[in-house]
Amino acid sequence: MEKKYVIAVDQGTTSSRAIVYNNQAKALGSAQTATTSLFPHPGWVEQDPMEIWNTQKDVLLKAAKDTEINPSEIAGLGITNQRETTIVWDRQTGKPIYNAIVWQDRRTADFCQSISNPENEALIRSKTGLLIDAYFSATKIAWILDHVEGARAKAATGQLAFGTIDTWIIWNLSGGALHITDVTNASRTMLFNIHTLSWDEELLALFNIPSSVLPKVKSSSEIYGTTRADLFGEAVAIAGIAGDQQSALFGQQCTQSGMAKTTYGTGCFLVMNTGETAVESSNKLLTTIAWKIGDQLHYALEGSVFVGGAAIQFLRDGLELISEAKESEALALSVEDTAGVCFVPALTGLGAPHWDSSARGAIFGLTRGTTKAHIVRAALEAIGLQVHDLIQAMCQDIDNESIKMRVDGGATANNFLMQFQSDILKASIERPVDIETTALGAAFLAGLATGLWKDQEELKSLWTADREFSPQLTDEKRAELLQNWNTAVKRSKNWV
Ligand code: ADP
Repeated sequence: MEKKYVIAVDQGTTSSRAIVYNNQAKALGSAQTATTSLFPHPGWVEQDPMEIWNTQKDVLLKAAKDTEINPSEIAGLGITNQRETTIVWDRQTGKPIYNAIVWQDRRTADFCQSISNPENEALIRSKTGLLIDAYFSATKIAWILDHVEGARAKAATGQLAFGTIDTWIIWNLSGGALHITDVTNASRTMLFNIHTLSWDEELLALFNIPSSVLPKVKSSSEIYGTTRADLFGEAVAIAGIAGDQQSALFGQQCTQSGMAKTTYGTGCFLVMNTGETAVESSNKLLTTIAWKIGDQLHYALEGSVFVGGAAIQFLRDGLELISEAKESEALALSVEDTAGVCFVPALTGLGAPHWDSSARGAIFGLTRGTTKAHIVRAALEAIGLQVHDLIQAMCQDIDNESIKMRVDGGATANNFLMQFQSDILKASIERPVDIETTALGAAFLAGLATGLWKDQEELKSLWTADREFSPQLTDEKRAELLQNWNTAVKRSKNWV
């Protein structure tokens, strides 16, 4: 039968999801199940690897069944996933030896602190593009090997396998035949040299990780192998892998240097394509691999805003100023400006480029005339201003002022926010029709490898803009807003 479909396998932090796409990159149907996070101690976050696999398998089969596609019509599966989350399992039994340690888990923060010195920081930055942090997989693997009885001995004899979520899903899809990852996921382990594209001996020694546990590192788009035949009734190609943020960058078709995507969810996640150059940031942004497709290797800069859409959640649940997130748009538009109110949503400190964990949220400029509309508008503006600061840092790093940004995520539904974003960046931004860009990216990678789509040129034509927002603000007003914001940020720093 003609191969007409690709399926994106999207394993996120809070859910397992699968989306079936046709050869026009149109989503025909999807299935999704929530997954459980476990908090065994303060600061620890775990998930059950078997739950991750079983929910992912079930939604994959359900999506295929609901859309009534025949397995022989599936060109391939593209995998995208929550990054950095770490699983170690027994190669013989396929059983995990410990729960998945999730990216948010802080249990190895003290260890990271203990090895943080200028020499190690420079070593890790130059090889991996990362900052030393518990976030990444390396210290999580070591923790499991050190805390599960007999694990080190088993690892020494090659009995154990490590994987990020992509690796774990593919191991299970293939019935244990494939122990692989791709360059984007490998680049988040703190063990992978992003320049030589190989696991790094010096870093393996520093973190005490035996190379026997590591998966083979592949490109982001190729036929790696197939699923075990009994899953769909016949073997289906596994043909694309990318970590969630990189997958979204590809889903947004930000394929040229200087193109960026921002996802506006709870936090805001920015990734900018820097082409074939791995740009070392002077602003504490991360350097990472965007993808490898054939011989084409692209790098990216990455940074995030901790409190993005969460600022609106805070107005809703904390201050109870609104009852629904979408009310914020009409309220913001009901006033001409914030009347001098400036809200710094540093509720959990400030991330890049400020990096101040002791900063706290503040609302400045209150007067007797301040209304809730002014505060709500200031909160939305703060989302855009934080993204502005990150983009500005990225532009400094790449020495380029002209940016092209595409947007996705729940809060992009807010047209006031999008217009403000364009105004404050003084650049047009584009919102696509399909805002499920993470899954779309994985589908693109799989469709490209399997010939469903001819080449990257063809993919460009499959990305469709819903709306473009162009800057309308005067330079004077923009300068005033930025000046107010910078003053407010300064005053919110170093609070606790
Ligand atoms: P996540 O994947 O992080 O859960 P979503 O992409 O689902 O996030 O987006 C939800 C976030 O966006 C929430 O923080 C919510 O407050 C915010 N949000 C949703 N709709 C709007 C809106 N119309 N205006 C502003 N913020 C919104």
